[in-house]
Amino acid sequence: MRRQDIFCLVAGVVLATAAANFVAPTAHAFRVFKVVNGRSVESDPVGCGPFERWNLSRFPDRKIPYYINSNGSADLSLAHVTKALGDAFLLWKTIPNTPIDFRLAGYTSAIGYNPDDNNNVIFWDESGKSLRLAGAGPEALALTVTRANLTTAELEDADIGFNGGSISGGTLPCGFVTAPVQWSITEERCAFPPKRIAKVKKWGAHEVGHLLGLAHSTVKTALMFIGPTTEVLMPDDVAGAKFLYENLPPPCSNCNSNCNSFLSFVEGNPSIPGDGVFVSAVGGMNNSNFDLSSPIPLNSTTDGFTVTVFPPASVQSVNQVVLIITNLQHTGVCQVGGGFGSGSPRGAVSSNGVRGFYFNVPQSTLNFAVNFLAQQNPGCGVTVNNLFVEVLFLEDNFSQPITTLDATAICPGQNNCAGNPL
Ligand SMILES: [Zn+2]
Repeated sequence: MRRQDIFCLVAGVVLATAAANFVAPTAHAFRVFKVVNGRSVESDPVGCGPFERWNLSRFPDRKIPYYINSNGSADLSLAHVTKALGDAFLLWKTIPNTPIDFRLAGYTSAIGYNPDDNNNVIFWDESGKSLRLAGAGPEALALTVTRANLTTAELEDADIGFNGGSISGGTLPCGFVTAPVQWSITEERCAFPPKRIAKVKKWGAHEVGHLLGLAHSTVKTALMFIGPTTEVLMPDDVAGAKFLYENLPPPCSNCNSNCNSFLSFVEGNPSIPGDGVFVSAVGGMNNSNFDLSSPIPLNSTTDGFTVTVFPPASVQSVNQVVLIITNLQHTGVCQVGGGFGSGSPRGAVSSNGVRGFYFNVPQSTLNFAVNFLAQQNPGCGVTVNNLFVEVLFLEDNFSQPITTLDATAICPGQNNCAGNPL
């Protein structure tokens, strides 16, 4: 069992009952930053925040303001710089269901990286010196420096510098980096890409991804890959932006403790964790699957689930819960299903003196599951109306299955946990 990010499928989970159709691609590989012990660290998008991002409500018009250095580029008019950068911002702004928006606040004489002035400045560094001082290698086309509040993780400043100087190291392949760096709109030395303004837009869009809080993705096709080949946002980039701006996990202590409508249990007296009655997993590899007493129709939820689990005291950690979602209204090859992981626990709770852990499975994960199973099984008529959460699977921090539980509650909504927050 591989460690998973929150959106991806879990490999190797086998249903005891259905002719299941399991696949295990890594759906996304974007990376973000989060504040850990007062430090900003690059992170997988799992577990508790706070993750670094902008709080757009801080701005009266809810738009992240940016300034352009009035020198523009030595190779490009200020109007073309402004247009190309505007197009770069627009790519991110048009992601649906996120509040991402920007505003050109004006032109400025400020140049270089000033992470403490709370002004987001975009500039051309014609000597390349500012980039080098900020730690960029000589081949860097551009560099973004961000600063987050190390208590709230809110981003407060981001400056983007483009390398206008000569790139040492000779001539690199066309379409990647050329030397010297010219951001002209005249024809490139190389036939492809045909226009340097397109290069500004492309690299500007990559840098805007950093401005928003994204680190480099490990997906080669993504715009946020370290040497992107795309000029538009790819699904991995969109997923990264949505992670930060659509379904931002609240801090771990936000358990609402109001899970009154238990949807499903896996033992005889689930309202009494610690009653000494443990239920054992019943199916799958190594008997690691807990069958829900009543499968939960996916079309019953609009805000995902919170899953609270109470393992025996001997189990020190639960790394994630996996919902196995199955098409229960078809038979044969169309009785398809897959496992969808929660990511790390959001927090710990206590009930009747027993410690439990709760996990959020956001609606975006369920939507992903529906789309994924439908696309993977054309002709089976898979829709949200015939998919059910049928099985729960848990793994510990060593990615080993957890096979006994005292109680479990699966409740509608996020952070809607059973028990009292610890
Ligand atoms: Zn980058």
